[in-house]
Amino acid sequence: MSISRLRMATDGPGVSTLVTFWGCPLQCEYCANWMCHDALTHRESYTPEQLVAILRQDDIYFKMTGGGIVFGGGEPLLQAKFIHDVCKIIDPLWKKRIETSLYAEWDEIELLIDDIDEWFIDIKDMNAQIYKSYTGKDNSIVIENIKKILTRVPEERILIRIPYIPNVNTSNDIIKSIAIIKRMGISRIDQFEYVKFDIKL
Ligand code: SF4
Repeated sequence: MSISRLRMATDGPGVSTLVTFWGCPLQCEYCANWMCHDALTHRESYTPEQLVAILRQDDIYFKMTGGGIVFGGGEPLLQAKFIHDVCKIIDPLWKKRIETSLYAEWDEIELLIDDIDEWFIDIKDMNAQIYKSYTGKDNSIVIENIKKILTRVPEERILIRIPYIPNVNTSNDIIKSIAIIKRMGISRIDQFEYVKFDIKL
């Protein structure tokens, strides 16, 4: 959907370029990227080589700051093959990070296991009922994928994001989610709050 250059400290360390992809299997009530569900959203199409040519403009910033490319969305894992092809041809000194719900087929995740340096996983809430009420989906696939990814990726390369979602979960629910994630063996947890904007058109 977009390529956002020269981002600082919003998507991991250093200067990064965020590449967002259209499409997401979840239907989060407060989706901040609603354009990823809208068939009318303007979308560009790139080959891996064309995308890398754009990224190369910030080569020096990536290398000097420990930044690089961040794949986001929507759900970037829907484009796992494209991401894999990009990672094969980019400078090995650029960091490759992904922002995902991990609501995806394991094959898509596995394809990127050796490509991605850091995984930012937004789990919403670990409670199945809360997850379903907020996203419309069953979170068992997410939990299974977290378990599997932990067998292949060192836990220090995983950051779990747990939002406080107004009218959806409570501070108590968040404490429970954090406890479950820690029991699974992950220590890097980012807890934050969704801000709901009342936009009157
Ligand atoms: S996972 Fe992200 S992109 Fe997908 S519906 Fe939820 S907030 Fe929107």
